[in-house]
Amino acid sequence: MAQNDENSLVTLSSLEHYSFCPRQCGLIFVEGIWADDKNTVAGTLLHDHADTPGYETTDDGATILRALPLFSKKHGLVGKADIVEMRNGQPTPVEYKKGRKKQWGNDDIQLCAQALCLEEMFNAQIPKGYIYHATSKRRREVLLDEKLRAETFQTIEAVRKLLETGTVPPAVLAPKCDGCSLRKICMPELTGEKMEVAKKYEKTLWETHEQPH
Ligand code: SF4
Repeated sequence: MAQNDENSLVTLSSLEHYSFCPRQCGLIFVEGIWADDKNTVAGTLLHDHADTPGYETTDDGATILRALPLFSKKHGLVGKADIVEMRNGQPTPVEYKKGRKKQWGNDDIQLCAQALCLEEMFNAQIPKGYIYHATSKRRREVLLDEKLRAETFQTIEAVRKLLETGTVPPAVLAPKCDGCSLRKICMPELTGEKMEVAKKYEKTLWETHEQPH
């Protein structure tokens, strides 16, 4: 697998979008479409501090690295970590989120992918990370166990395949569409099931047309 090929690199942020909706990931990373709504603007504002590269030390001796660029040759990943806490040379990723734990999608996959990068960069084993929820101002511990790692590997491969084929998946109208910033562009009512019906109709017409006389 040409994971070190620049064209095969998967961005860490694409994993979060894919876990929310493969079509949203395709619209953003294949079609280059992005639309802000109040949720994405709030997320950007929240990330402003964590997005400013730098470091600080805490009273209990930890070094806090902000906006640390991340890379994994082994897994073909690139991106950055909001916060990495360093204690005695041991890195722990902390991802900032604007709300509560997501009802749809999986924040933990992006965190796990960050840890995969940090393990390679620091030659470390990272058993856990944290998701910081701005709404509650609390952080949630995430165990980076075999199950989550397997799920993360699957998502990385799925995103890589999506980018390689350049095919945006069809829409599947679901309750999560109501909270999607791309809903007006995606138009899941029109581009989902009905589009599939239209494609089948077009295929039938084509096959009929191609029948030898
Ligand atoms: S509107 Fe629904 S189907 Fe379309 S990208 Fe958003 S979540 Fe996916």
